[in-house]
Amino acid sequence: MSHAPVSSAAERPESGKPRRLALPVFHPDFLSEAHAASADAGLHDALDNSVTKKDYGRRDSLAELPDADGLRELAGRIKRHTLDHLDYYLELLEKNVLAAGGQVHFAHDNAEANRIVIDIARRTDSRLVVKSKSMVSEETQLNEALTEAGIEPLETDLGEFILQVDHDHPTHLVMPVIHKRAADIGRVFEKYFKAPFTEDPQTLAEMARVYLRKRFNEADMGVSGVNFAIAETGSIVLCTNEGNGRMCTSRPRIHVAIMGMEKVIPAWEDLPVFLKLLARSASGQALTQYTNIITGPRRGGERDGPEEFHLIIMDNGRSRILTGEYRDTLRCIRCGACLNACPIYRKVGGRSYGSVYPGPIGSLLTPLFNGLESHKHLPMASSLCGACFEACPVKINIPEMLITMRKDLVETGVVSGPERLIFRIWSWTLTRKWSYRAGQIFQRLVLRRLRKPDGWITHMPGPASGWTEVRDFPAPPRHDFRSRYAQYRRDNSHPADRRESERVKNA
Ligand code: SF4
Repeated sequence: MSHAPVSSAAERPESGKPRRLALPVFHPDFLSEAHAASADAGLHDALDNSVTKKDYGRRDSLAELPDADGLRELAGRIKRHTLDHLDYYLELLEKNVLAAGGQVHFAHDNAEANRIVIDIARRTDSRLVVKSKSMVSEETQLNEALTEAGIEPLETDLGEFILQVDHDHPTHLVMPVIHKRAADIGRVFEKYFKAPFTEDPQTLAEMARVYLRKRFNEADMGVSGVNFAIAETGSIVLCTNEGNGRMCTSRPRIHVAIMGMEKVIPAWEDLPVFLKLLARSASGQALTQYTNIITGPRRGGERDGPEEFHLIIMDNGRSRILTGEYRDTLRCIRCGACLNACPIYRKVGGRSYGSVYPGPIGSLLTPLFNGLESHKHLPMASSLCGACFEACPVKINIPEMLITMRKDLVETGVVSGPERLIFRIWSWTLTRKWSYRAGQIFQRLVLRRLRKPDGWITHMPGPASGWTEVRDFPAPPRHDFRSRYAQYRRDNSHPADRRESERVKNA
C-alpha cells in the first residue's frame, strides 16, 4: 500500500488562518509533563493500584473464555469489514434510527457537532444538560461550548463529575480520574459541597449521588456517548458501571447521543462479540454493570424514555484517517486495555500525552487528528515492547503503526536536521563491519574508564547523560561477545576441525 505521511493534510493551515485542532490539547509538551510525572511517587501508587490490577484482571477474565484469541480475531474482522463498507453501514444506521422515530445528524467536525447539540437545546428550551461519560464529547469540548451558549452542562459519571468541579481533564479512557487519590477528591468535595473533609470513598460517592439525583430530575436534556451503534436495528448501546447512563438517557425529555462514525457495527448478532470483550479488556469484568440498548425515543404506551432521540454521527478527521495507512486505528473500541498494559503509561500517566486520548492508542490518534508537528514526541513514547498489541481486543497493531509514524517524522521534515544527521551517521556506522567493530572498541575504551568499582556508570558523557539522570548504565566487559565466542570455539573445537582450519589458513 502506498504510504502518505500523516503530517500532510492534518498540519497544513490555510494561509493566514490559525489552524483549528481536531482534538483539544491540554498539555502540549510531552517531555516536561512526563519528566514531572515520572518523579511523582503518589501518581505511581495510584497507577499501580488501579491500572496494573486492571491489566491482571483482563488476563484472568479473558482466560475464562474458551477461545479468547479467536474472539479477538473475529472482533477485529468485524471492525475491518465495517470500515471497508462504512458508507453502507452508516446509511443503514441512519435509515433504521429514522424508522425507530429518532433523528440523525451528520457533523463534519467537532464545532458542528457542538452546534447541533446547542441548536437542539435551544429549540427544546433545555437549560440543564446532564451527561453520561462520553469520550467524543470530550473530543468536541461540549461542556465549554454549552457553557458559552448559556446552557448548564453537568457530568454525572462520578469520575467525570469530580473532574468537572475541579476543572481538570481525564487521564484514562475508562477511568478518567485515575490520577487522583481519595484525599485529593476529599479536598475537591470539601470545597465544592462546603462539607467537612473526608477521604472515605463511600461517603464521597454518597455526597455526589445525593446531589446528582436531584439534578437528574431538573434536567431537560441528556447527552450520552455510544459504545456501539447497530446498523441493522438503529439501536445504540451504552456500557456503564454506574446508573447515571440510564438516568441520562431516560429521565430528561430529550436524549442526544454523539458518536464517532467508526462506532457502527453491522448487526445485532455482532454485539455479543464486542460485549464479551469490552468489559473484560477494560476492567476484567465479564460484563459492565449496565448494558443499555436504546432504539429511538419513547413510544406510545411506554412510561419511560425521552420524547426526542437524536443521534449525532461525527467525522472530525476520521474519513481522512480511513483512507490512509492508519485506518486500523478506527477499529478501536476505547477499552483502555493498551493503556493498562503499557509500561510507559504506567510510568508517566495520562496527563503527559496532552490530549483526550492518552496511552499507546493516543500516541497514534493525537498526531493523526492534530498533525505530527505539535505532537512529535508521541510516536516515540513507546518502548515498542508489543504489550499494547497483545492486550488489544480488536488486535490493532499499535507498535507497527508507531514505527510507520516515526518514518513520517523523518519524511515530513518534522525531525530536525541535526537529529537526522546523527541517525544517518549511526546507520552508516552500524551497516559496515569495520566501522561497527571500531565503534565497539572505542566505546569499550571510553566507557570502561567511567565505571565505578561496582561495575556501573553513574554519569554518561555528552548526549548520553540523559540516560544516567534517572538510572545507572552497566559498564561493558573487558572482552566482548565476539572475542569470547571466538575463544570458546578455539578451546572447544574438534582436533580434526582445528587441523582443517589450520590447513585453510596455510593454503
Ligand atoms: S487500541 Fe485496542 S486496547 Fe487500546 S483502547 Fe483501543 S481497542 Fe482498547
